[in-house]
Amino acid sequence: MTATRAAGVPVVEDGALVSTNPATGEEVGRFPVSDADDVARAVERAREAAAWWVGLGHAGRRARLLRWRALLAQRVEEVAGLVSREGGKPVAEAIVETAAAIDHIDWAARNAKRVLGPRRVRGRLTLAEFSAHLEYLPMGVVGVIGPWNYPVVTPLGTAAYALAAGNTVVFKPSEYTPAVGQWLVDTFAEVVPEQPVLQIVHGPGEVGAALCHSGVDKVAFTGSTATGKKVMAACAETLTPVLIEAGGKDALIVDDDADVAAAAEACVWGALTNAGQTCLAIERVYAVAPVYDTFVAEVVRRASALKVGYGDGFDIGPITMPKQIDIIRRHIDDALARGGRAVLGGREAVEPPFVKPTILVDVPEDSAAIREETFGPTLTISKVADVDEAVRLANASSYGLGGAVFGKRRAVATARRLRTGMASVNSVITFIGMSSLPFGGVGNSGFGRTHGDDGLREFSRSKAITTRRGPSALKAMTFERTPAHVARIVKAVKLMYGRSGR
Ligand code: NDP
Repeated sequence: MTATRAAGVPVVEDGALVSTNPATGEEVGRFPVSDADDVARAVERAREAAAWWVGLGHAGRRARLLRWRALLAQRVEEVAGLVSREGGKPVAEAIVETAAAIDHIDWAARNAKRVLGPRRVRGRLTLAEFSAHLEYLPMGVVGVIGPWNYPVVTPLGTAAYALAAGNTVVFKPSEYTPAVGQWLVDTFAEVVPEQPVLQIVHGPGEVGAALCHSGVDKVAFTGSTATGKKVMAACAETLTPVLIEAGGKDALIVDDDADVAAAAEACVWGALTNAGQTCLAIERVYAVAPVYDTFVAEVVRRASALKVGYGDGFDIGPITMPKQIDIIRRHIDDALARGGRAVLGGREAVEPPFVKPTILVDVPEDSAAIREETFGPTLTISKVADVDEAVRLANASSYGLGGAVFGKRRAVATARRLRTGMASVNSVITFIGMSSLPFGGVGNSGFGRTHGDDGLREFSRSKAITTRRGPSALKAMTFERTPAHVARIVKAVKLMYGRSGR
């Protein structure tokens, strides 16, 4: 980072990270930059705090997390305003994001004991003299690395589950959104003042790298695929487990029996919300031939009515990260140079720091606009012969985060066929707010799951205990075994497993 100030570009001045509004250049906050020693000390404090946090048990943690949830709900407008000032998105979008995050805290707090608590599981006949118990224990200290595009729901979508599972957390927010990260950690400290259960370390990517090397027990990374690979490589050195929530190139399929108006309405929001800077943004549409023309016309009509600008009354804000504008422009240029057409927007739509909605058709499948994550308010719509072709093209992506299907008779079956971690039928992106469902991708979108039962287990280690209830009949696992015992084992195995199909 340099010391020059450009709207939205974070700089370090006198050891402080300065964040600015990407539309106005207004300073939003300044925060001390951590170095590797600071990160190590934070992890050390987190490790000491972990014993206290674990000692509270599920009930104690639940009570505190629900108090935090209540505080966030009471101050939802305050944090949404800060998200808008620091990242540029409309306040209404920030409220929707925060509401989803609040629900995740609530769900994680209420369900941790059910999902992770000790339980007896059925044993096996071959080990009939033993009972079996299972429980999920905290891992210790979890490092959470977050992106800037959803600075509330992405870090909390992992941190809330890690905390509910009994871990302490050291959080490194994006250098583009340190103020939001600090607000979250400060509000947590209001309800949990006793110990540093949730801490923050500020700074550029190197601070995230230091967290990977710090000896944390797990790293939960949300960000780009390229950085995810670096995080994984760094964590490999110490066999630190990682959760990677990376980029996406989500597709929407419109079948011939879809409600086309509803599909267009959802598509416009799914593609353009947060100026398209959404991991789950609809970036590609495959519409079957009979509905294609109506769908394109309806999308263009709706998208052209949206207002682009910063502040009250605008639907689409600035591009938060100025350097992303070059990528968006390249994707539009490449699509147009290779035979694509802009039925809305186009090259002239790029007016830094804003990009107006751009709808591209006839774009070749091997172009950047179809293959790479654009992260801008652009959308490609392709005509396909049938739903099979739509599924084939939707799946021909290195990414596999989410997806959507609009239709009736075979929509759910089509959603199942998408090579993604999540899919929504007759809606877009809804799974992010469904706290009871796991969230995560495949391929270049990453691996591991947050949210839901799986999300709680992601931040736990299973502990299996077998307890002897009586003497062993088969004497399988002892040197006291005699040939007679072995004969009995052979007989038992043949009796229990020797007949096929039963
Ligand atoms: P980046 O990958 O650039 O950054 C993510 C985080 O990693 C930031 O905090 C960043 O710090 C940090 N970081 C950078 N370098 C390193 C490193 N070497 N080691 C450890 N941490 C590092 O992503 P963006 O912030 O630009 O976020 C946008 C991306 O996130 C998109 O690809 C989007 O699809 C994806 N995303 C995925 C989601 C999901 O759930 N799957 C949800 C939301 C976004 P700094 O910013 O200070 O450089």
